[in-house]
Amino acid sequence: MKKIVIATKNPGKVREIKDAFAHLPVEVLSLGDFGQLPNAIEDGETFAENAAIKAKFYMEKTGCACLADDSGLEVAALGGRPGVYSARFAGYNADDWSNNQKMLEEICIADVEESRANYRCALCFVDTDGHKVSAEGRCDGVVKKIPHGNGGFGYDPYFYTNEYAGRTMAELTLEEKNRISHRGRALRKLVQQLEDVL
Ligand code: IMP
Repeated sequence: MKKIVIATKNPGKVREIKDAFAHLPVEVLSLGDFGQLPNAIEDGETFAENAAIKAKFYMEKTGCACLADDSGLEVAALGGRPGVYSARFAGYNADDWSNNQKMLEEICIADVEESRANYRCALCFVDTDGHKVSAEGRCDGVVKKIPHGNGGFGYDPYFYTNEYAGRTMAELTLEEKNRISHRGRALRKLVQQLEDVL
């Protein structure tokens, strides 16, 4: 059976992707199955570039077809930042709390109460022969200064969804989040394309 390695050690992402691939004739592995591997240098200027960099890098390191993702938040009042820097907005040792504090500080400096914002996710699959399949997903909402909810991760408590009016991403069940999220949307588009390839 064809092996696909997911370019992440995040068990949540692996579970989500395994679930979406359950009906395909593939064995899904994660980077954790390959022991110590170097980190890919994510120096792309877009989510799509970073996903492609990671997919090619880990396909070459593992010898397996590879699926990589890159995602983040774009806040309109901040000119689209943090964007590809979402994971390290507050610096290289940033965590969710410090990234959110940095976002709130910048929103105060921009002198707005709230701002349109969107999450984006790019996925890239690279086969061992170099064949590439890509997909992107987006989720629109509003970032506000008051957090709500304990679910999700990252910027979710501050991200008020358009689809579930009045509720933040951190107040949704996992099923509700997957239905509207940037990653859920990108994954469904990618799987549709892979059904023809695999
Ligand atoms: P990565 O694609 O896992 O590297 O995620 C990049 C960063 O974007 C994360 O560390 C989060 O700060 C942010 N991010 C990506 N997806 C989400 C999401 O679904 N909710 C909240 N934050 C997210």
